[in-house]
Amino acid sequence: MSASTATHCPYCALQCGMNLVPDVGGLLQVQPRKDFPTNKGGLCQKGWTATDLLGHPDRLTTPLVRAAKDGALRPASWDEALDRVAAGIQAAQAVYGRDAVGVFGGGGLTNEKAYWLGKFARVALRTPHIDYNGRFCMASEAVAGIKAFGIDRGLPFPLGDIPQSDAVLLIGGNPAETMPPIMQYFERQRENGGALIVADPRRTATAEQATLHLQLTPGTDTALANGLLHVAAADGLLDHAFIASRTTGWEDVRRIIASFWPDRVERITGVPTAQIVKAAHLLGEAATGMVLTARGAGQQSKGVDNTLAFINLALALGKAGRPHCGWGCITGQGNGQGGREHGQKADQLPGYRKIDNPEHRAHVANVWGVDPDSLPGPGRSAYELLDSLGQDGGVRALLVMASNLAVSAPRALHVEQRLRALDFLCVSDIFLSETALLADVVLPIAQWAEEGGTMTNLEGRVIHRKQAAPRPEGVWTDAQIVSALAARLGAGRYFPTDEPAVIFDELRRASAGGIADYSGITYDRIDSENGVFWPCPSPDHPGTPRMFQDRFAHPDGRAKFHPVHHRPSAEEPDDEYPLYLTTGRVMAQYQSGTQTRRVEALGRISPEAFVEIHPALARRFGIEDGDRVALTTRRGAIHVQARLTPNIRQDTLFVPFHWGGDACANRLTNPALDPSSKMPEFKVCAVRVEKA
Ligand code: SF4
Repeated sequence: MSASTATHCPYCALQCGMNLVPDVGGLLQVQPRKDFPTNKGGLCQKGWTATDLLGHPDRLTTPLVRAAKDGALRPASWDEALDRVAAGIQAAQAVYGRDAVGVFGGGGLTNEKAYWLGKFARVALRTPHIDYNGRFCMASEAVAGIKAFGIDRGLPFPLGDIPQSDAVLLIGGNPAETMPPIMQYFERQRENGGALIVADPRRTATAEQATLHLQLTPGTDTALANGLLHVAAADGLLDHAFIASRTTGWEDVRRIIASFWPDRVERITGVPTAQIVKAAHLLGEAATGMVLTARGAGQQSKGVDNTLAFINLALALGKAGRPHCGWGCITGQGNGQGGREHGQKADQLPGYRKIDNPEHRAHVANVWGVDPDSLPGPGRSAYELLDSLGQDGGVRALLVMASNLAVSAPRALHVEQRLRALDFLCVSDIFLSETALLADVVLPIAQWAEEGGTMTNLEGRVIHRKQAAPRPEGVWTDAQIVSALAARLGAGRYFPTDEPAVIFDELRRASAGGIADYSGITYDRIDSENGVFWPCPSPDHPGTPRMFQDRFAHPDGRAKFHPVHHRPSAEEPDDEYPLYLTTGRVMAQYQSGTQTRRVEALGRISPEAFVEIHPALARRFGIEDGDRVALTTRRGAIHVQARLTPNIRQDTLFVPFHWGGDACANRLTNPALDPSSKMPEFKVCAVRVEKA
């Protein structure tokens, strides 16, 4: 290993650049990279402590197998463990057919591993059932982006464009806590005289910094967007030239927003009329503007409609397809974007190709050297797949990579029961996560700094994460596992390598000509250019930092308006469950907490789950700050500490979702799905609170 390795943080989609430098004891120290254009020297506490996990005592370094269904996990050789996995797969397929095997991947996997896993499901297992936890992240924004613009890339512009935008509307995101280094762009935007409008049921750390905070009722995003557009239309703020020359479908939207007059929207959303009018004018009167949506709007059973409503707003104001303008999505997971571009999603093939499109199938099958007819069709989406586990006609044997479903899936107790009902479960992880504890076989894998690969950050910038440390003895990479399993299943010739660089070259060919075309991207280019933006269809192509400047990606080159109505959430408060529950992240923990809960410094900042309650609401229930309280929904109950704060609506509770067991927020959440993105309704359900 070289003295210092330029690489990236293992966690969120900002993928901050960092150098890993060995100290005198050989431990790797983190130094932020000032030269990397996204974080520019910034890191959050998670990034600073990321190397703490490399030598962690809980680290798995040998495969584990369970002798009998109710027996204990015991150490095993790799041969024994992989033979067990192959036997588990073959037994399920022999009895129930090929489709009885499923694969569940993760948004933390590198592009190479996501690609290899997707190919493994289609070529070695020949099952349609592969999906990933990125479905739980930004699936709604992906669908909305394709519908409106013809392409799905989180941000269609680099972060560096934000400071030049005169007004930014951010809906349902709290980056000041979840990815603090990004706030430097919003700070510069405000220093330049720009306005920042934040819509969120909580007065978050991000909302604190805003020019205007719209504290909407959970689940009312579409109504808010339609109300803002109503005011913009009534007050002459629309960009009619842009609508006429670069879009289609405005008339249908115009008819719908006509009924969203501000006092009606105030009744639905709880946002005062004056604030609705002010926000519409701040955005509408600005010469340049951006509309950014995040999980608050997307993780709902109407997440696609919510997102489309805000895209309508951006389009009608002419705030898209122009410099320092646009709609964008703040991605959460490290490789949520690349993870789906290369085949982990149930309906997608590499290069963002569609699995039910004959031409797309033929291209990918040709690269893979298989008959297109041998490729399965679309499979079940993430929650549908989990709900089918162990059921008639469902998946009987499941491989899980880089995902802790027992904590991160909605209706988590039910998902845990479904995992227990499987004939066979294999989990690969670096630690014995809540999901790994349920497995028949656990495979110990390498961590971020112990192997190389590429990730695609929230800007669509493909970055290179380099190996900086040797792998502990006994630990394999995910790609090694996939290739070894493929060999045991008689498909070894399709998986002749486990080298990330070789896999990436194949990925480039598989993506060539697709929407997410990586064929012109190489490791060398990424290293010398600080990342390359897709699409990049040839080695001499500069990459595409800014999309849609001349045309949108629909065949006619225009963006499409989509008329969307407000509708209630799948579950609204009632007498039995009188409050809204919403969930999210805190600064010092990440996702299901498998990694960050084991970092001592992060544990000191955020040691346990809590519920935010408004003091006036707490008084009604006799709850004081620090009390243990029970939260109950139709799906389960948890016990957490009460944290009283005036920063949350009086009808809403907030619980972070990083903990398992009796503090697992997802034991409460509602798996009602968006009809097109299949996104569960993580962000809104009805809840009851009592002093424990
Ligand atoms: Fe940067 Fe995100 Fe890592 Fe924090 S968690 S250092 S914001 S990449």
